[in-house]
Amino acid sequence: MPTKDPADDGKPPGRRMPRPGLLLIIVGALALNWLLLNVIAPPAPTVTVPYSPTFVGQVKSGNVKRISPLGETVTGEFKKAVPNPEKKSESAKNFETEIPQFANGDQLEALLIGKGVVIEARPIDAGRNIFVQLLLGFGPVVLIVGLFVYMARRAGAAGGGGIGGLASFARSRARRVDKGEQRITFDDVAGIDEAKYELLEVVDFLKNPERYQVLGGRIPRGVLLAGQPGTGKTLLARATAGEAEVPFFSSSASEFVEAIVGVGAARVRDLFKQAKEAAPAIIFIDELDAVGRSRGGAGFGSGSNDEREQTLNQILTEMDGFESDTTVIVLGATNRPEVLDSALLRPGRFDRRVTVPPPDLEGRLEILQVHTRSLPLDPDVRLERLAATTPGMVGADIANLCNEAALVAARREHTRVMHEDFTDALEKIILGAPRKMVMSEEDRRRTAYHEAGHAVVGMLTTGADPVRKVSIIPRGRALGVTFSAPDNDRISYDLAALEAKIDVAYGGRVAEEVIFETITTGAESDIEQVTGIARAMVGRWGMSEEIGFVNVLPDDGANPFLAAETSDQLRHQVDMAVKALVDRAHGRVTRLLADNRERLDSLALVLLDKETVDQDEAYEAAGMTPPSGSAASAPSLAPTPT
Ligand code: ADP
Ligand code: MG
Ligand code: ZN
Repeated sequence: MPTKDPADDGKPPGRRMPRPGLLLIIVGALALNWLLLNVIAPPAPTVTVPYSPTFVGQVKSGNVKRISPLGETVTGEFKKAVPNPEKKSESAKNFETEIPQFANGDQLEALLIGKGVVIEARPIDAGRNIFVQLLLGFGPVVLIVGLFVYMARRAGAAGGGGIGGLASFARSRARRVDKGEQRITFDDVAGIDEAKYELLEVVDFLKNPERYQVLGGRIPRGVLLAGQPGTGKTLLARATAGEAEVPFFSSSASEFVEAIVGVGAARVRDLFKQAKEAAPAIIFIDELDAVGRSRGGAGFGSGSNDEREQTLNQILTEMDGFESDTTVIVLGATNRPEVLDSALLRPGRFDRRVTVPPPDLEGRLEILQVHTRSLPLDPDVRLERLAATTPGMVGADIANLCNEAALVAARREHTRVMHEDFTDALEKIILGAPRKMVMSEEDRRRTAYHEAGHAVVGMLTTGADPVRKVSIIPRGRALGVTFSAPDNDRISYDLAALEAKIDVAYGGRVAEEVIFETITTGAESDIEQVTGIARAMVGRWGMSEEIGFVNVLPDDGANPFLAAETSDQLRHQVDMAVKALVDRAHGRVTRLLADNRERLDSLALVLLDKETVDQDEAYEAAGMTPPSGSAASAPSLAPTPT
């Protein structure tokens, strides 16, 4: 279970123009126009009459005032209303009729003139006044154009540009934070002292640029913050601006990339222009990999490539265009520095790279202290203990934990946040919230043995992480969970530790085989984990005899199509080596569990009774002593629920 970053802000920004709504609005506008027209000038009722006998008859009887021929169709006005020949109840003065082609035109003309009928060129409708005509002709167009202008203005205002009109599309949407409003400082950033230390130099330069310029040193222009999500890159950038007390222009690279080619580049230009006017200042471009991905190869003809490239080029051009006395520093942040285009990293551009690592024990303690500053803590809260039980968690996780603990405390109506509020919040975060579902007795028994299998293998295998918690309460997609975690942060794993991980993950399924002789679908995520470790051991870490010291699999995140520098045959060998490795594990674990059947039975029984057991109870139930010196019964993080 990789730790997630609840605060990661890499989501794509919403489009400003509501496209599906647009059609609706246009239709609405047209309907409005039509309605208006009918209210202001309701069309006079018109009847369609047959040419003969009605029309000719009416002309002969002298009841036709005027007509207006339009091809074969003739519209006109009677002197007195004539009943509708189809619906006798209605009658109308205006009429319409068709003159058949075989009718004798000359005779008709003579008749009309004889009866003094006015023959005119404009249609009867033209009786409406000029305003109505205008509304009829231009109304829809005016409405639609007005709508577009309105929407463009709104989009402009939403971007903070303030200035309306379509031109604001090209304006940068960076948020500007001025020094007065800047409340985040280095005090709010904890546990990543090396990164902070490197940024102190940037702060110092922005505060005393002359000192550096006198000595002729080249000032850093771009600093790239690299680190996994949630380690505090965005926070660090804002804190840097806060410390330097300079305006801070913050934007996410994905905001530059719109569907329209050229907009991104225009926005970049605008952003740099604003920053230079406000200098000294900091420009922050978050999620830089959204535009800075290495060009060529990687993208498989994605449509937005052109736009990305233009935007990237514009950023490079702007950074190259800095005068030596420009006091604007560009900070970039990315989770994936390895995919960035090398042009971005050249001298004069993002040539400084600050790695923001996940915090160690000490760091986690400091971050806990920062985030509990504003919480009323009970004296029994041991932050050191919490820091020790959270290896693998990054700043964002810890911020989330503190918040969750405060919520738990509030729900329990505690006046202060207690230690147990923290441990329960932690359990909820790591294991997921319990799910209400009814399990048959057979399923419960199977789950108990499955989890006991993981746990017993974990307890008996040297090199495996101590078992911290075992539970058969369903959570998320899992029916049960066995949680193991190391005492300290582990930097690297040796061969034995990796094999132990595989064995522990295999333990659940093997226990089912040993006890029930049938198997179920319940081991899917275990299989994923086993396969993942085994493939990496063979293909990336050179840990198999068959393949040896050769990198066959791409690093995470690299394009798998590009890494096909290996032959099919070699990849086939990898598959075979992986299978052999997993099969050996199967043999080992089956023997281990068969030999320790009583431990398995007794732990499964206790689980069926208690549903959740902590470290001490679990080891005791299996007839073993818990490993000494470990963080007792607190649940711990560092993700191997199996
Ligand atoms: P990133 O940009 O690296 O993904 P963020 O800076 O957005 O991470 O971190 C999200 C939140 O997590 C921050 O707003 C802060 O509350 C907390 N956080 C992360 N790292 C730290 C840290 N080193 N010290 C204090 N708080 C942190
Ligand atoms: Mg971020
Ligand atoms: Zn399992």
